[in-house]
Amino acid sequence: MSESRDVRVRFAPSPTGPLHIGGVRTALYNYLYAKKHNGTMILRIEDTDQTRFVPGAEDYIKNSLEWLGMEIHEGPKEGGPYAPYRQSERKGMYAEYAYKLIESGYAYYAFDTPDELSEMRKRLEAGKMQAAYNSSSRTSMKNSLTLSEDEVQSRLDNGDPYVVRIKLPRKEDVRFHDEIRGWVVVNTSQMDDKVILKGDGMPTYHLANVVDDYVMKISHVIRGEEWLPSAPLHVLLYRYLGWENLMPKFAHLPLLLKPEGNGKLSKRDGDRLGFPVFPLEWTDPKTGDISSGYRESGYSAKAVLNMLALLGWHPSDNQEIFSMDELVESFTLEKVSKSGAKFDLDKAHWFNHHYLMNQPLEELLPAAKKVAEELNLKCKDQYLMSVVSLMREKVTFLKDTLRQGKYFFEDPTEYDEKVVRKKWKPETNMHLEAIALAFENLDLFDANQLEATLQHYGELQETKIGQLMQPLRVAVSGAPMGPPFYNMLALIGKETVVRRLRTACKNIVANG
Ligand code: GLU
Repeated sequence: MSESRDVRVRFAPSPTGPLHIGGVRTALYNYLYAKKHNGTMILRIEDTDQTRFVPGAEDYIKNSLEWLGMEIHEGPKEGGPYAPYRQSERKGMYAEYAYKLIESGYAYYAFDTPDELSEMRKRLEAGKMQAAYNSSSRTSMKNSLTLSEDEVQSRLDNGDPYVVRIKLPRKEDVRFHDEIRGWVVVNTSQMDDKVILKGDGMPTYHLANVVDDYVMKISHVIRGEEWLPSAPLHVLLYRYLGWENLMPKFAHLPLLLKPEGNGKLSKRDGDRLGFPVFPLEWTDPKTGDISSGYRESGYSAKAVLNMLALLGWHPSDNQEIFSMDELVESFTLEKVSKSGAKFDLDKAHWFNHHYLMNQPLEELLPAAKKVAEELNLKCKDQYLMSVVSLMREKVTFLKDTLRQGKYFFEDPTEYDEKVVRKKWKPETNMHLEAIALAFENLDLFDANQLEATLQHYGELQETKIGQLMQPLRVAVSGAPMGPPFYNMLALIGKETVVRRLRTACKNIVANG
């Protein structure tokens, strides 16, 4: 392969359900690689297995990539020079390659019935041998290697059902270079004669995938580690089809692991530990079951993108915060790790908090308005942004700024029971009344004035203001903790604060 070959990568999901977050990371690494090398990002829908097709899955994939800001240059909706980009629409194109392989002696017809196949497996298992259709077991099966030419022809003329299998050599090392793992060597004795064309004339994944990668001039196959075992077969298909000099480079990405580190991250882990494993919410069209998504759970696209990029790839320095442009700039396959990347929920929260803190308030406004509407909180945009600005320091999700800050909109209906029990002295209400009066007389109701007023009150009364802070906070907000106290009061406003202080004095009876 010449070094000057244009970079063309593909993300090739099968539309069998919602796209797992690991799949999104595969798409992202492909995208970053394409962008970095001024290349082309292709979306190819691998839907040859119609039994596993799930309606809505393709749109879900598209929407997920769009949400995270990955553009597709060629794909089912975008079109392109190698359209169509859905394998079901290309199905007529694959069979000729299977027949070409038969002609050149690298594949064969197999007429075995399901019963005969299962008998073979049982026999091999009983003899403690590998239960596979391979270079040794194929010699006792019904295929064009064992049957006479006439018999094969008459079966074909009869329309007897058959599949086409690749013919692997008995013992041969298949070597290929993986951009992440280095040299990989697998012996064909460990492989089997996979079906490449099915009885209905449809290709299997292996044939369709290799043919399309070749036809679409794919330069790099960047995909999950679960496809590593298929790679030697793909290498042989390239070789047998005479395309070896145009074979793409392979890069198999590490798995996304459970937070504990053993095993692949699954939907069950997400349910168990309370985080989504899908980018967007998904409703199963058959069962109606809903799986949560990062978007609907309140994560920002930028945070998810940043978090995913670092699950399996390490920049050369310790930088953690990356915009898409910075990722494109820094991304290399050499810095993708070989070992699995553990999902880390705290880190996911950390990223979300970071982006929440750093996003301009105007950009957060539309989402904040939506949350306010859901919570039935009414106010002006400016006020809403001030609440978000004051509350965001303490929370992970934008929605929590309003959920935890309802008192910015409504008088409290309850007062923190522990503070009332522990901090309300017989004289507390008297102080609160006096402070309400002092506040009422203020012309300027800002944080500085409020602090000065309270200091002054403390000095006059020779009382420790510190001891009044929590009762004051609870009287105004109902909650024992929250954003900086004086800023909170200033934002809630004089009239409301004074009213709430007086109401609290009526409602709360001191202990002892
Ligand atoms: N259709 C395969 C999948 O669902 C594609 C694997 C590959 O990228 O070769 O992931």
